[in-house]
Amino acid sequence: MSNISILEPLYVELSEISGYLWQRGWAELNAGNISIRLSDVSEETFKDFSVLEDLVLPSPIPALANEFVLITGTGHRMREISKQPKEHTMIVGVGADGISYKIYFTSFGKAIRPTSELPTHLACHGVLKETKPGYNTILHTHPSDLISFSHHPEMITEEIINKTLWKMHPETVVFAPTGMGFIPYQIPGNTKIANATIEKLATKNTILWQKHGAFAVGRSLTQAFDVIDVLNKSAGMYLQCKAAGFEPTGLTDAEMEELMIVYKDFGK
Ligand SMILES: [Zn+2]
Repeated sequence: MSNISILEPLYVELSEISGYLWQRGWAELNAGNISIRLSDVSEETFKDFSVLEDLVLPSPIPALANEFVLITGTGHRMREISKQPKEHTMIVGVGADGISYKIYFTSFGKAIRPTSELPTHLACHGVLKETKPGYNTILHTHPSDLISFSHHPEMITEEIINKTLWKMHPETVVFAPTGMGFIPYQIPGNTKIANATIEKLATKNTILWQKHGAFAVGRSLTQAFDVIDVLNKSAGMYLQCKAAGFEPTGLTDAEMEELMIVYKDFGK
């Protein structure tokens, strides 16, 4: 299909969600990044875009051969993406060899560059394509309450983290039934955090990067955002109770089990 209008609904969604990230204070400065693997597009779709060619990934991702991924630009703010989603994002087209790529962009008469997390995003998309059909979206953001929560000295295992978050609200049990993966602090942008994240994707769709932020995959950007939002709300309520000077009562094990049975098909 040669018509870029096929992507218009995606740009509308991108504008809406990146606006929420900014409004909620989850996207200070140029924090966060988003990527979406596209369907029903080809090189022809982007014929009116400018192109940067002869680019090469650090290592091949054969699963992404001939795939196109929309991704946010390095240094671009979510508040800018919200206003001009097309101009502050680009399309990465991976070659048939799985290692060469081109960048298609519309903006400003000068080339924009993808987020420095491009290799991590693409490696994750390769894994998602092969292991989680329909999961085409990656969102990394800085949800304040979850980050504060991750500084709690007791919140250092997935079991404790998830039980604490689930106990705070029935909705969290229902809409985040697999909870969060947990990755202890790593310096941002290094290959260790990328590899740990890829490993976690086998069992989790949302991951807490300790003292840094959240990483979520979804069938849509809205879904990835919603799950982080639900988990962040629980973290915020937990911190509010602690700040008010009491330990939250929390849902009992029996109450959580009942929710898991009654709403077992939600949040999957
Ligand atoms: Zn970050």
